[in-house]
Amino acid sequence: MNYSELAPAYIRAIAPYQPGKPIAELERELGITGIVKLASNENPLGCSPRAVAAMHEAIKTIALYPDGNGFELKDALSRRYGVEQAGIVLGNGSNDMLELAARAFLTVGDKAVYSAHAFAVYPLATQAVGGVGVSVPAIDFGHDLNAMLNAAIEHQAKLVFIANPNNPTGTFLSGDALLVFLRALPANILVLLDEAYNEYLPVECRYDSVSWLKDFPNLIISRTFSKAYGLAGLRVGYAFADVQVADMMNRVRQPFNVNSLAQAAAVAAIHDTEFVRQTFALNLNGMKQITDGLTRMGLEYIPSFGNFVSFKIRDAMHIYRRLLESGVIVRPIANYAMPDYLRVSIGLESENLKFLSALTQILGEMQ
Ligand code: PMP
Repeated sequence: MNYSELAPAYIRAIAPYQPGKPIAELERELGITGIVKLASNENPLGCSPRAVAAMHEAIKTIALYPDGNGFELKDALSRRYGVEQAGIVLGNGSNDMLELAARAFLTVGDKAVYSAHAFAVYPLATQAVGGVGVSVPAIDFGHDLNAMLNAAIEHQAKLVFIANPNNPTGTFLSGDALLVFLRALPANILVLLDEAYNEYLPVECRYDSVSWLKDFPNLIISRTFSKAYGLAGLRVGYAFADVQVADMMNRVRQPFNVNSLAQAAAVAAIHDTEFVRQTFALNLNGMKQITDGLTRMGLEYIPSFGNFVSFKIRDAMHIYRRLLESGVIVRPIANYAMPDYLRVSIGLESENLKFLSALTQILGEMQ
């Protein structure tokens, strides 16, 4: 009996998500310590001490189910962003938002549009419900919004995924460009604007997508506590949407999809604006350190607006493995149709230095 055949063909066709290699796994494989992981766009500063304290407190009531409605966290988000609680969806990471949107609005055969080189979970979430993904060629690795608009209309898509900034390319769309897109898109096509890296945007690039919700009830904005807030291991994300859209997404989520430690930590983290400011500043300096270093090595990179940067390199898989042997984990992105690129997350100054030194040495040895 081949049990995989019991699954629908569209499930069997799914290519599994490839996560960054965990530090412990490389430690086991190579028997080395002091490994630097710059592979999953995590926060090198850890998380807010206030979030840690809140988790300690929340552990006391860990025998109880979490608040299935996430009142405190929705209240904190509602006050911060001026969105009513009924228009908020909470999730197990913002990954959950992508899946909930797909599950609530797509059925077998429905089309979802996304860009080539866009975040891998868009096709996964689409395929998991039998939806059909329409991948639109990119321009300079970034989203081609005009082409995405045309594709959405032509294919009568129900959902468009937009990552801003996008992972793994780091490319960015201005608020003005997004508004032009939203104005032109028919109102019966939903847009999931994935702003997982929103907090890393330079001040001059910021735009107020939340204020657009009143004009565009087809807009879903998803964000996360995994990146700038440093809570990736806890899994908390959220979405802002029209009340009816949020209602549909809430109907298909697990009743307790955000655990109680995660809820408590996220509430505390949202109030620690100083931590997010430090994270932003560290990332800005680290991005310069890494891109300057890549330039010195004569390597081309895609200018990035996130906490990572993808650079072009010959023999990318070989370099990836050699970096592993040097105790540095980066991310190959051949699965994003970018086999000549590696993606490196911005770490602490010392971690960035370790990456740059290892890469310089490897390239030197290869000459
Ligand atoms: N969107 C994008 C663009 C991402 O890069 C990621 C994380 N890799 C996510 C969403 C999901 O992150 P999380 O589930 O941790 O919020």
